[in-house]
Amino acid sequence: MKPLSAKIAGVVPSATIAISDKAKKMQREGIDVISLSIGEPDFDTPGHIRDACIAALNRGETHYAPSNGIPELLSAISEKTTLENRFPCTPGQVIVACGAKDAIYEAMEAVLNPRDEVILLTPAWVSYEPCVQIAGGTVVKHAVNQKTFQLDDSILETVNKKTKMIVVNSPSNPSGAVFDRGSMELIADVCQDHDIYAMSDEIYEKLVYGKEHISLASIGDMEQRTITINGFSKAYAMTGWRLGYAIGPATIIREMSKVQQHSVSQAATFAMWGAVAALRGDQRCVETMRTEFDRRRSYIISELNLMEYETAPADGAFYAFVKVAGDDLDVATRWLEKGHVAVTPGSAFYAPGWIRISYAASMDRLKEAMGRIKSVGN
Ligand code: PMP
Repeated sequence: MKPLSAKIAGVVPSATIAISDKAKKMQREGIDVISLSIGEPDFDTPGHIRDACIAALNRGETHYAPSNGIPELLSAISEKTTLENRFPCTPGQVIVACGAKDAIYEAMEAVLNPRDEVILLTPAWVSYEPCVQIAGGTVVKHAVNQKTFQLDDSILETVNKKTKMIVVNSPSNPSGAVFDRGSMELIADVCQDHDIYAMSDEIYEKLVYGKEHISLASIGDMEQRTITINGFSKAYAMTGWRLGYAIGPATIIREMSKVQQHSVSQAATFAMWGAVAALRGDQRCVETMRTEFDRRRSYIISELNLMEYETAPADGAFYAFVKVAGDDLDVATRWLEKGHVAVTPGSAFYAPGWIRISYAASMDRLKEAMGRIKSVGN
């Protein structure tokens, strides 16, 4: 038979799969594995959001909706963005997609031509590179400073004529670092001086601890060349709803809209009504979850430091990023096999020698996991 797509064959499965498959197998065998490899809040979606979705279903919001999203949600997003993220945003600059991940994929398809280069600031989340590859682009990696997890002038050595886009993710998955104004201004300068687009994935914006979240599009005239990615999965514990969105110049949103119209059509109509309730409703639920993450963060970071592990600045998201001695895959395998604790090796994020521990688990489980890691050691 004729060979399948060479483009997709070039996309490698995530390095995390082997460990997570092993963890699942152990769980099936009845072993009490504590999973700290999860990238989702352990909370349920707040009640008023679920109720709004149920009400929408019951009043018949079960039909096709406009591809870019229901007008009520586009307005809620544009108002929220203008007010909170501090850059002007009209409803025509918003597209609601099936998760932030879908928005990222559509943006890559809309912007990239074959062989265009996209700079990923590493450590970086696992799905950016495959999205770039599927869209035909090429990834170039640039490591942030491994102590401060901020950006410095060395980024200029990575930029060249083929650079089309820089992907920024603050707060970061996996490092938990939050870019300060200096890093953001540097990115803005580089993009403006070299005519580069930026993708700013701000999905963890609500989960910051004592640091300010700065939207890249709010700096200078970056809103003219930035696609801001955001969503509901992390802030409102809505991972399974598959809702996210992109904000960008209307020219880019129009191109993304074509990708969406001819692929997924739209996000689920009744789910979008839940998202309207999330943005328009009481925001105390967000703060309640953030406070609980902060409590776990303080605990886990101080425990790890007491065990003399070096940790990245845990200023945002819900991950501790830990430096280990030796091969991170070996250490993660040992923690799983001997301690029954599942974590994610940093190699998956282009950061060998590090391990990502998610603290989106109950305090009791975290305490138990820390005890087990302590007894297994590095
Ligand atoms: N960006 C980052 C950095 C993420 O960690 C995730 C989820 N793991 C996403 C995007 C995708 O989020 P969604 O569930 O909205 O597709």
